[in-house]
Amino acid sequence: MSTRFDGVVIGSGPNGLVTAAYLAKAGLRVAVVERNPAAGGGASTAEVTLPGFRHNLHSNFHAIEAGPVARDLELERHGLRYIYPEVQHTFVFRDDTSICLYADPERTAASIARFSPPDARRYLDLHERFGSGPMGLFLRRSLFQPPMTDDELAERLAGPLGREYLAYRARSLHDAVDGAFEHDSVRTVFKLHCHASAYEDAPGTGHFFLRVVARSGWSGLALGGSAALPRALVSVVEGYGGTIFSGRAVRRVVVAGGAAVGVILDDGETITADRFVASSLDPATNVALVGEEAFGPDVVRGVRDYRWASWSITTLHLALAEAPRYRAAEAAPDVGRAYGVYLGADSSAELRASFASIARGELPERFFGNGACNTLFDPSQAPDGKHAAFWWPFAPYALADGGAAAWDERRDEIAERILREWSTYAPNLARRGVVLARHLFSPVDVERHIPNMVRGSHHGGAYVPDQIDASRPTPQLAHYRTPVARFYLCGGSSHPGGSINGAPGSNTENAIADDLGLERWWTPVEVPG
Ligand SMILES: Cc1cc2nc3c(=O)[nH]c(=O)nc-3n(C[C@H](O)[C@H](O)[C@H](O)COP(=O)(O)OP(=O)(O)OC[C@H]3O[C@@H](n4cnc5c(N)ncnc54)[C@H](O)[C@@H]3O)c2cc1C
Repeated sequence: MSTRFDGVVIGSGPNGLVTAAYLAKAGLRVAVVERNPAAGGGASTAEVTLPGFRHNLHSNFHAIEAGPVARDLELERHGLRYIYPEVQHTFVFRDDTSICLYADPERTAASIARFSPPDARRYLDLHERFGSGPMGLFLRRSLFQPPMTDDELAERLAGPLGREYLAYRARSLHDAVDGAFEHDSVRTVFKLHCHASAYEDAPGTGHFFLRVVARSGWSGLALGGSAALPRALVSVVEGYGGTIFSGRAVRRVVVAGGAAVGVILDDGETITADRFVASSLDPATNVALVGEEAFGPDVVRGVRDYRWASWSITTLHLALAEAPRYRAAEAAPDVGRAYGVYLGADSSAELRASFASIARGELPERFFGNGACNTLFDPSQAPDGKHAAFWWPFAPYALADGGAAAWDERRDEIAERILREWSTYAPNLARRGVVLARHLFSPVDVERHIPNMVRGSHHGGAYVPDQIDASRPTPQLAHYRTPVARFYLCGGSSHPGGSINGAPGSNTENAIADDLGLERWWTPVEVPG
């Protein structure tokens, strides 16, 4: 096998593979190095309960088709299919009332109106003004652009709607939601929905609420499991002559004359990169792989101070004889037809108290978070007539009592508690013979499987004002380039952050294409002026 390439990509998560696929199709000889036996990173699917039951270990709700990547790379031709359930998400409260978010915003408004007609009108107003027209295009397309500084944003968003967006940007997430809606259940729904995308409540994060409220119908389910996405991307890379080195970790990036010229693997083999090395790993690992001296003290300090998310999530995967049957579905049948199911937080006060417990390293008194039963929509993910489901309660990485290691010791007890809580909403889960097997995937398991998800941080680092836009991961590293020539950053620690949309990977291939003077076969995304 050749060990000389034009470029090497470190990590085969969705972003690394996107960068590799575009550049392979542009005619470069590309290698991707992955430490795990299978490609996929945060889009991995495994049979962790029983044979034939497919469980997505990390991402489940994909938005890769909302941007240009799937279309450009013709991923359908490589076997990738998504479905978009009409009832995208449901939020179930303990009194069995619920609110559903639909692909159709009018139906969402009708669901909200059962709690508050003014909030329903407000939702439609925000959705319309920030989800469509030039502003909607701006919000969608700016993900696929290099980040803008505050000054650039102010110049670009000088109109009334733009100024309103920037005013939201100055507020905290909760403040923004509270200012928009009057009913606390509606507020709780949108806060929870934003937190599920890893957005934090801190001064300067209010605009994320607008981004979330502006979109509907984006959450896709990959048929066959999330691993179908990396499988399709690998097929593109290999189809254009690229090579995936899996089960082999990068130990060192080789620098000569101030430029990255290759990588050394853990088995000592060197892979030469004549034109670029791109890494999808976390900032600290990137600096360590190259050596601090190459970056200078400002970058090293910035990377040392980089903050991981304030919480992680733990997953309870279930192999089931029947799908969860939510009591709330008796009054609102769409609860039973929903793709994403949010449980466990009834009010803003409860949400705040639960996150405060997590910040202290304690499990919240009542678990809260979202989950899904994918087999309701894609029966192929379990044996005939059976179901695979999961719930993702928010959780601390390090437990106050015993630290991160305590997750392994308390695995059974915590799994039991989560299942008991889940059963209070879906009583059939408590019936003998319904749960065939279970598997708890803890925040520590997240990091063990993907070490760049440091402290089980699932979106590449906290979304706080000094780590977003032109400051992600640090101001000096924010444009996918680094002080080391030909060394690029293509993962979720770069703008616009983690998620399965391919945006950081796509922005990096554009930076590399510019620097190498490549002729693009794709049309770069343009942001309306
Ligand atoms: C539990 C969980 C649920 C999530 N749910 C969603 C969701 O529903 N929707 C969504 O949009 N996002 C979700 N995410 C986030 C999403 O998975 C990530 O944002 C996304 O995977 C980032 O992609 P990436 O390519 O940048 O990095 P990653 O997917 O992290 O890929 C990096 C790859 O690099 C490899 N690697 C690490 N070190 C080395 C090394 N030294 N040498 C070689 N390879 C190495 C890793 O093994 C990994 O495969 C979730 C994350 C978690 C943890």
